[in-house]
Amino acid sequence: MSLLIVGSVAYDGIETPFGEVERILGGSATYISLTSSYLTNQVNLVGVVGKDFSDEDIELFKSRGINLDGLQRDDSGNTFFWKGKYHYDLNNRDTLDTQLNVFERFDPVIPENYKNARYIALGNIEPSLQEKVLDQVENPRFVVMDTMNFWIDRAPEALKKTLKRVHLLVINDSEARELAQEPNLMKAAEKVMAMGPEALIIKKGEHGALLFTENEIFSAPAYPVIDIFDPTGAGDSFMGGLLGWLAYTDDISPQNLRRSVIIGSVMASFCVEEFGPGRLKNLTEKEIYDRYREFRNLSEIPEIS
Ligand code: AMP
Repeated sequence: MSLLIVGSVAYDGIETPFGEVERILGGSATYISLTSSYLTNQVNLVGVVGKDFSDEDIELFKSRGINLDGLQRDDSGNTFFWKGKYHYDLNNRDTLDTQLNVFERFDPVIPENYKNARYIALGNIEPSLQEKVLDQVENPRFVVMDTMNFWIDRAPEALKKTLKRVHLLVINDSEARELAQEPNLMKAAEKVMAMGPEALIIKKGEHGALLFTENEIFSAPAYPVIDIFDPTGAGDSFMGGLLGWLAYTDDISPQNLRRSVIIGSVMASFCVEEFGPGRLKNLTEKEIYDRYREFRNLSEIPEIS
């Protein structure tokens, strides 16, 4: 089934305790589309890049079979640029620079051939733009939305309006607490689900993720990654893996949602092993499914009699 992805396409500057890169391909739509391209071959990207965007990076998307009909090129300025710095606690990062550039005028126009996409990833962009995407698509089966503290603070009403139209919200624990105005995570999850989505995933950084559906809670383990270099894009890679799997299987049952959470965790665990999207350029199917099995083994709880 086809998958539509809307979000930022960027250049990032990254500092971690293990090294530094001045400028590397990034952006939420970049990570979501690269990771989902390993699971489904119908990945359609919507975003904007500026005059500085390199042919090499365009070729990377093409080499993964990603449809770029919806990638606008605005020659009036440069590509969105973000710079972040991580400390030893890799769950926390400081934003050192954000240059919106052509992203400031981004108007997500959905090409005709994308409008019947059944699975939609609304990457972390302004909630009113996310809603604009939903106004243009025909009859999606499953819409997944990401957001961040920035939009919870700046545009809470628009965010709540968009939330009513999505099936799954993926946020981290601090965002869930802030959105619900509730310190207890379980109560916060209940309050967020009452805002509209049928399912909710709360990511807990290196501690795994919780999936809430109508009647169930599923706790996914975190993979003990040894070679962690750069957490940038881990959240988006999680979303790409998850939605790529759902689009591939076209099955949104609670059981398959559980599988999708693990595939998402697998892709996030690969993402952090190199700077930027480096590790996501040449994964193999075997590596992905081997790691899926490692995840399963991690949390197999023996029966007691
Ligand atoms: P993640 O680490 O998964 O939360 O996402 C990292 C990506 O988000 C980076 O590659 C950035 O380019 C991108 N990013 C950072 N700030 C913003 C923003 N305000 N809007 C859209 N994308 C952003």
